[in-house]
Amino acid sequence: MGTDLRQRTDQANKVLIIDDDLTNKAILEDILHSNGYETRYASDGTEGLKTIAVWQPSVILLDLVMPGLDGIGVLKELRSMDLPSRPSVIVVSMKSDEKSIVSSLSSGADDFIVKPISEPELVARIRAQLRINEFYREIAEDKRNLETILAITGAMSATLDPSEVLNIIVSKVAGVTEAVRCSIVLIVKDDEGYVLATHEDPAVRELKLDLSKYPEIKEVISTKAPLALDDVINHPLMAGVKNRIADLKDMSILIVPIVFNDEVLGTLFLRTRKKENGFSRKEIDFCRIVANSSFHALRNARLFEKVTKEKEYLREIALKDQLTSLYNHNFFYSRLEEEFERAVRYETPLSLIMLDIDNFKQVNDTYGHRVGDVVLREIAAMVKRGVRKTDIVARYGGEEFAVILPHTLLKGAVDEAERLREIVESHAYAGLVSNKITVSIGVAAYPQKGAMNSGDLVNYADDALYKAKWSGKNCVRVAET
Ligand code: GH3
Ligand code: MG
Ligand code: MG
Repeated sequence: MGTDLRQRTDQANKVLIIDDDLTNKAILEDILHSNGYETRYASDGTEGLKTIAVWQPSVILLDLVMPGLDGIGVLKELRSMDLPSRPSVIVVSMKSDEKSIVSSLSSGADDFIVKPISEPELVARIRAQLRINEFYREIAEDKRNLETILAITGAMSATLDPSEVLNIIVSKVAGVTEAVRCSIVLIVKDDEGYVLATHEDPAVRELKLDLSKYPEIKEVISTKAPLALDDVINHPLMAGVKNRIADLKDMSILIVPIVFNDEVLGTLFLRTRKKENGFSRKEIDFCRIVANSSFHALRNARLFEKVTKEKEYLREIALKDQLTSLYNHNFFYSRLEEEFERAVRYETPLSLIMLDIDNFKQVNDTYGHRVGDVVLREIAAMVKRGVRKTDIVARYGGEEFAVILPHTLLKGAVDEAERLREIVESHAYAGLVSNKITVSIGVAAYPQKGAMNSGDLVNYADDALYKAKWSGKNCVRVAET
């Protein structure tokens, strides 16, 4: 892609004249030069073919009748040559008979002009050929990009080793883009990334990056969109890290996020020589497709697994209560808030159960704290098992539990509370002489007069729980409506 752009700008102006007649040569050169084209001249077919191979013109103006190799001979040779890009041939001839036109076009000419030459017509026809060349170039680029994507997906199914897959990706991408550097970076935390593969050095694995020194990567993490910097060193985003990027003078970079579930897992990073016209739409699109396809390899990378497990573990610790493995107080509040907002927005019911163990202090006093802990765990497990999958059970306080019941009316919640009360009461607790434990339960439900937010709902359930305690414990009470 990179080279194509450069070739195109050099090549677009290159017109080769193959004609044995010096007067024609002079007329054509005059027209071409005054229209800004660069020309070369060959006086016969053999010389013409040599010039084509070396100079690679984009358009050839070809005479038919020449001594030695004639125009048709040149066409036949030319179309069997293996050239980096296909030149257009416009036959410029004195002859206008049907046979000449047909044999020229069928031998590979793209157009046919009859002398004497009209300047506007010649220029218009050359322009038309250049436009077609551009299409050819784009198609060739698309084809190569597709081949690369195919090679990458092929490599993925052929090897199970994720780091090998990532290495194949970076080397293929570097190949078609002519990047001086192509790498894949795994994002671990806000400020921590690892280079998992880089095309210059297949041995690079898990090279740690301090992302605070890479504002370009941080930018992509936050926008989740590709970022192309065509003049890295002078870009405002890079102002703070000018020292680090001194060697990026005359470089352009392209960073494409590898996104899953709205989260940036990593980036595809490309560095090339400075782009005159910036990265093209095509280059960016190509890299996006590659970034998408590298997602699985990235996810399967050893480090990714390790990091994900750590993240999950940390999240688990942050959300759950250690003793009972139920959700903790913080999580309970944020979930209740969410559920409350949802209930208001979609006009669905929402219930809340608050449950407190009766005379639990006595259990501790009689049997010790350790036995108390065991009882707490048993009750937690029973409550968890006794509710529906969609209900959310949390340890609200020391020996208090809360259950959020989305989409549940007061009646349903009371039934569930009564069931929980019975389960706890009828359970035999190992190690307890009077092996009976009971709970008091308060229930509140939205919609309810005065319940404007989740805090109100908690207060109503709490009030109901106190009523249950006042009524002699081991019972279920409902919030005053
Ligand atoms: P009530 O029926 O009025 O609720 O009486 P109670 O004794 O259950 O209530 P109180 O609030 O007086 O005492 C609660 C007890 O729960 C005191 C505290 O030591 C105990 N507790 C709180 N958290 C834990 C814990 O994690 N482990 C153990 N073993 N006990 C706990
Ligand atoms: Mg209690
Ligand atoms: Mg209590």
